[in-house]
Amino acid sequence: MSFCQVIVDIASEDVDRVFTYRVPKGMALEPGMRVHVPFGRMQRLEGIVVEMVEDCDLPASRVRDVTDTLEDYPAVLPGLLELAQQIKASSFCTLAQALRLMFPAQMRGERISAKKREYAVLTVDPTVREQIAVSQSRAPKRAQVLRALMSAEGGELPVEQLRRELGDCRPMLAALCKMGYVRLEQRETMRSPYGAMEKLAANDPQLTAQQQEVLSRLLPAVEAGRGAFLLYGVTGSGKTEVFIRAVRRAAQLGKTAIVLVPEIALTPQMVMWFRSRFGEDAAVLHSRLSPGERYDEWRRIRRGDVRVVIGARSAIFAPLENIGLIIVDEEHEQSYIADNTPRYDARELARLRCEREGAALLLASATPSMRSFAMAGRGDLALLEMLRRVNDRPMPQVHIVDMREELKAGNRSVFSGALLGGLKSCLDAGKQAILFVNRRGYSTFVSCRSCGYVVTCSQCDVSMTYHSSERVLRCHYCGQEAPVPSACPECGSPYIKYFGVGTQRVEEEVRRHFPDVPVLRMDNDTTRTKDAHETLLSAFRRGEARILVGTQMIAKGLDFPNVTMVGIIAADAMLKLPDYRSAERTFQLLTQVAGRAGRADSPGEVYLQTYDPEHYAVEAASRQDYRAFYEEEMRRRKRALYPPYTLIARLLYEADRDEDAQREAQSAMRQMEAFFERRTYLRKYVVALRVMACPIRKIKGKARWEVTLKIVDKPICQEAVGKMSEIAQIPLENVSCICQVNPSSMM
Ligand code: ADP
Ligand code: ZN
Ligand code: ZN
Repeated sequence: MSFCQVIVDIASEDVDRVFTYRVPKGMALEPGMRVHVPFGRMQRLEGIVVEMVEDCDLPASRVRDVTDTLEDYPAVLPGLLELAQQIKASSFCTLAQALRLMFPAQMRGERISAKKREYAVLTVDPTVREQIAVSQSRAPKRAQVLRALMSAEGGELPVEQLRRELGDCRPMLAALCKMGYVRLEQRETMRSPYGAMEKLAANDPQLTAQQQEVLSRLLPAVEAGRGAFLLYGVTGSGKTEVFIRAVRRAAQLGKTAIVLVPEIALTPQMVMWFRSRFGEDAAVLHSRLSPGERYDEWRRIRRGDVRVVIGARSAIFAPLENIGLIIVDEEHEQSYIADNTPRYDARELARLRCEREGAALLLASATPSMRSFAMAGRGDLALLEMLRRVNDRPMPQVHIVDMREELKAGNRSVFSGALLGGLKSCLDAGKQAILFVNRRGYSTFVSCRSCGYVVTCSQCDVSMTYHSSERVLRCHYCGQEAPVPSACPECGSPYIKYFGVGTQRVEEEVRRHFPDVPVLRMDNDTTRTKDAHETLLSAFRRGEARILVGTQMIAKGLDFPNVTMVGIIAADAMLKLPDYRSAERTFQLLTQVAGRAGRADSPGEVYLQTYDPEHYAVEAASRQDYRAFYEEEMRRRKRALYPPYTLIARLLYEADRDEDAQREAQSAMRQMEAFFERRTYLRKYVVALRVMACPIRKIKGKARWEVTLKIVDKPICQEAVGKMSEIAQIPLENVSCICQVNPSSMM
């Protein structure tokens, strides 16, 4: 008699343990397989086998049978079962929740299945075929079907194709089946997200000396199946080529690889380009896939048809076996952190997967995260550097423009004289330019010149943004719109003023200065439809516009050879956000944006407009000096006790009524205080424990309160985070609560 331990697919704490079932005779089961089981009063519930066992202590009458299996292979590989256990432990979710990360959501509840196609297959021996065809001459249509199959490769054709060519042939096929000449077969087919993509077999470039040097350290690690690296390579240093060679080495060794990139960088261009180097060996997972395509890509990976998977955050769960290498590109990106339950950091999981499955880890960025660079400093990651651009192309020259001086000189326009001059010479030289407007933290709000009243959203505690093309105010958190008031609602004054700079305003200004130059604008408004993002980028790439005005969307990993000038309209906009990472984010963004200039043979010029030219983040970014920024920032983090010296955990309460959110937050605060009361060994690590209203007190009509804990980042302190997660799981009436660790937004 054999039994199995099953985790049932219910995300509740109450059933967060294994249940034992009997394996019926003849059912082949192994850990990781999905099954249907009876559970309580439910006849059929999905579950995952986590262990096979020989014996069972329970009385036989209390043990029920596994009903059936959903697939005849384990959907969750052993390594990923372990990873799920790890996520459960570190993110304090249930195992059922962690396991759900491991396969496409639509597989649950059988909302998706493999696409089937019917084939007609000839079953007669080639030597007698002619004879048989002749024997059917009195049934000409039947003979026609036979002859079609005989001339087809392998003696088989999709039924659909026969029907297209010969009209309805069902009855003939049925007759031929009965005679034993033909067999009908259902076969799985794959939905291909790549369409009829032209195969551009790209040639390998000659590696630069830097690339060779980095690879000489990386490849042995791929071969040995261990080692963790941080590749700090300036923009345009050719990191991608390093990835390709390393992945290819893994493939030569019969191993597989995962390449994580930020979702925003996963453009069709990137997908196509990757496929051009790896062909059918590559699978791409991104959010534009339909559920069917996603499922088929997943199965292709699971069946071992694929050598390399490229995808956003969740591709870290790709069911690859025999992994030799995991790469995380643009590793500083916040998008690698999943904030909601189950909470995880894909970089952390990449490290775990590499250690468990014997693979090398490569984190890469032109602006590494503070945490990773600090790890490299301690020797926990081996540092690889590429400090020059490919072919010694010069780094872009950055001009800092002090906007206070412009104002003093009477220039109230969006553009400084220097930026306009640069733009003009770029256009005169027949090149393209990018104008970058930092939307985050800087919007075109409307305010009264007499009393200072600012129009805010009635549902959210934020100012509304003016959209000049539609002449409406819109809230960027909830989308609510309002007309622009003609007089101040507070004091009645007719003097209403628009502050700040938005992409639309910049676009208008460009058109005013250069009426004949085609301009494209890329922001939330122009990219609402599905493919808008890509359409705009390729139009720009084809040269249909000379100037691209855009938000952060255009900052990431884009390679436009013809762009020689980049203008940054307000470099310091983000510095004012109440977030300990605002300097880091500003530095990263400015460096990445500046890096878009001069990537091919013409040198690049960057104009960086700021009201805060002395700020160390702006200053270091203008020199593209990562180390200088890193050292200053670490000094400040240490002084103010911010991560990576500490970790910040936050309980976020949201409710319709402010007092409900406040009450629960305060109750959580008391529980945390009591917790530390009993744990003297933890108390000394607590830097701050506070309860307060969130910086944005209301979003989408929900009042928001928080409890934040700042505690020294030591393994032992995870216990406190665990306590907070536990508190977050307690169901509340009319109030929702989530627990975040080093949350990607502190608002
Ligand atoms: P990064 O990701 O480091 O910013 P990329 O990988 O995008 O840089 O490379 C910058 C440019 O240099 C790309 O256009 C790429 O095709 C080109 N490139 C990379 N390696 C080489 C090489 N060895 N020889 C010639 N061109 C290269
Ligand atoms: Zn007023
Ligand atoms: Zn709103």
